[in-house]
Amino acid sequence: MPKINLVIWDWNGTLQDDFDHIYGCGVQRIFREFNLPCPTVDEYRREVTNDFMRSFYWPRGIPSNVTADDLNKIMFEGFKEKGAPAPAFPDALAAVYETRRRGAACALISAYASAKLAEAVKRHDFTALFYEVKGDVKEKTVEFSRLIFEAGSDPAEVACVGDTVEDAEAAAAVGALPVICPRGFHPRERIEALRERIPSLVIVDDLAAVPRLIG
Ligand SMILES: [Mg+2]
Repeated sequence: MPKINLVIWDWNGTLQDDFDHIYGCGVQRIFREFNLPCPTVDEYRREVTNDFMRSFYWPRGIPSNVTADDLNKIMFEGFKEKGAPAPAFPDALAAVYETRRRGAACALISAYASAKLAEAVKRHDFTALFYEVKGDVKEKTVEFSRLIFEAGSDPAEVACVGDTVEDAEAAAAVGALPVICPRGFHPRERIEALRERIPSLVIVDDLAAVPRLIG
């Protein structure tokens, strides 16, 4: 395996442990607001994708004129009420730090709203560890390609660390190493099911395994 010199990290469900937060304050609140039965945690984890309106909310009965922005507003009301923000995974900071110490640059690419992402990254002390933090990313392959090009890296020298099927697919699409830690939004069986289609897929049990991939 070539030496990894760039690691591109995902935030929600990968470095920030926010699944319970999103399901508890967000998903449950949304279904309550529309007087619909709330799908279980397992149903949510099995069905949710980046395109969550189409994969989850609309098929589960949320009216088709309701947009992702509408639901985000309801979700953030729930977060405000809860008060305490979601924590980082206990091994997250050390994993990014150790990745850098072993010589790989680190960037953060996320679908999360940019302002909220910047705030959370700062709150959990990650700011100095990333040379770039970018939120509001709709299409990760575009950002992965750009970062790889700008870094002058060979895609084979790049690892993308995430928690979902789409994270693995985006990494594989640009020729980078897909590394998935299935403690976030997608259950392990959805990730395992990708092995045949994405033979380069690496599944790790915790983030301490990530710097060890660098050597
Ligand atoms: Mg994620």
